[in-house]
Amino acid sequence: MGELLGFLNYERKNGAYREVIDRLGDYREVVKHLDPIELREQAARCMDCGTPFCHALGCPVANLIPEFNDMVYRGLWHEAYDRLELTNNFPEITGRICPAPCESSCTLAINDAPVSIKAIELAIIEKAFEEGWVVPQVPREESRRRVAVVGSGPAGLAAAQQLRRMGHRVIVYERDSLPGGILRYGIPEFKLEKAIIDRRLEIFRQEGIEFETNVMVGEDLSARYLKRKHDAVVLAMGAREPRPIPVSGSESDGVYYALDYLTRATRHLHGEIGDRELISARDKTVLVIGGGDTGADCVGTANRQGAKKVYQFEILPRPDEWKESWNPQWPDYPRIFRNSSSHEEGCERRWSIKTKKLYGMGVSVQKGIFCELEWVQDGSGRRQQKEIPGSEFTLDIDMVLVAAGFIHVEHSRLLKDFNLAMDRRGNIAVNPDLATGAEGVFAAGDAVNGASLVVRAINQGRHAADHVNQYLR
Ligand SMILES: Cc1cc2nc3c(=O)[nH]c(=O)nc-3n(C[C@H](O)[C@H](O)[C@H](O)COP(=O)(O)OP(=O)(O)OC[C@H]3O[C@@H](n4cnc5c(N)ncnc54)[C@H](O)[C@@H]3O)c2cc1C
Ligand code: SF4
Repeated sequence: MGELLGFLNYERKNGAYREVIDRLGDYREVVKHLDPIELREQAARCMDCGTPFCHALGCPVANLIPEFNDMVYRGLWHEAYDRLELTNNFPEITGRICPAPCESSCTLAINDAPVSIKAIELAIIEKAFEEGWVVPQVPREESRRRVAVVGSGPAGLAAAQQLRRMGHRVIVYERDSLPGGILRYGIPEFKLEKAIIDRRLEIFRQEGIEFETNVMVGEDLSARYLKRKHDAVVLAMGAREPRPIPVSGSESDGVYYALDYLTRATRHLHGEIGDRELISARDKTVLVIGGGDTGADCVGTANRQGAKKVYQFEILPRPDEWKESWNPQWPDYPRIFRNSSSHEEGCERRWSIKTKKLYGMGVSVQKGIFCELEWVQDGSGRRQQKEIPGSEFTLDIDMVLVAAGFIHVEHSRLLKDFNLAMDRRGNIAVNPDLATGAEGVFAAGDAVNGASLVVRAINQGRHAADHVNQYLR
């Protein structure tokens, strides 16, 4: 363990955000990184508590957190990287955008602020890249087996890298023009600069992982062909079917799904599409429907595009405020009110608001009718919404972004051709080995779990790789 009483000697510190005025002028990362002295102090706060909930319960990839904290405290950065590299294929990504369930379950968080695990994770991997320690791990022997990975989000990429390192030939098929899944085309640049993904993909290529992009598997390439040409298949297609909103007028021009909006914003930023294909919020009053993180990403993007005003309405009630630094629901991830960096940049947020109607006189949406809700529990303890009489109001809006979540994996032709069973939520049904009902076909990530987190997708991609390897050998 680091410093015996480090948790008493040092306050928790995390990377601060850049000034709003500064960050709104560009798409660069909003978080500033801690310096080496600050990092050492933060690592010193780890108590090496004996039962590291952070590692065993909080972190889905089971990062060896107390060990790397100790290494950082002692200045043994290479050793810290060696530990981190064992469990996580993309610490430079989780270190930026993971909601850090590890920190919620840190033992310090019972009555104090948790260790800044995520910032330490990020510092270790950035140091490793700087020093040239992150090198391709080319397998010593080739297995002569071929594996197809469908989808290049974090689940597909993690599965691909693990399988390649086990000696298999791996081809990643991706319908988008560049690999990365939601990492590239959902999460905005100001949270995750795309150069970070490219830096990692270069290592992938040097390891011998092959990418075939602009290929819609099931359409451009049949399920039968995929099976015939590969010894195993991993389906990692995400859960991309957006949840529609049951609101009259939601099919109007000027109403877009959040992922479509965010994807185009990133593609435009990187010169992949021109101005005409961009959905721009410039000089518009924008309403984001949905109070979650995807909605927050829309808020940040709309403000950078020069929106006149941004509203974010959520149908559920406002979560409870919690101003203390410790976790009231330890060791679980607490359900409390949170303000993201995007909200700080300008946004009117409201909760318990139902959108009743969207309409426009001309071609595009111009107005919305809304009302306030009261949430009451019925006899079975379920929450029911009740419209508050007289609470109806109207707003002038020019653009609506629907960020109401995703329902399940897209029920594409590929899934039908493989004749796969779906679970009751509409995602791909798998057994504990992540195998589907089709011989040699495995599945991982959001396509199995429904919309979730990057770190869970990485974890499942790694597990799928282990099971595919056992199957092949
Ligand atoms: C806007 C947004 C912001 C988010 N922010 C965060 C965050 O900050 N932190 C966090 O932890 N999580 C975040 N998430 C959730 C996280 O991104 C997902 O849980 C994660 O990306 C799922 O990984 P995946 O590999 O299963 O699927 P995806 O990332 O969805 O990747 C699936 C890939 O499969 C491809 N594909 C699908 N069908 C086919 C086909 N037939 N042929 C070829 N390719 C195909 C898709 O094009 C896509 O590239 C966010 C999600 C969204 C939508
Ligand atoms: S991946 Fe997420 S949960 Fe795991 S250590 Fe990093 S920030 Fe914590």
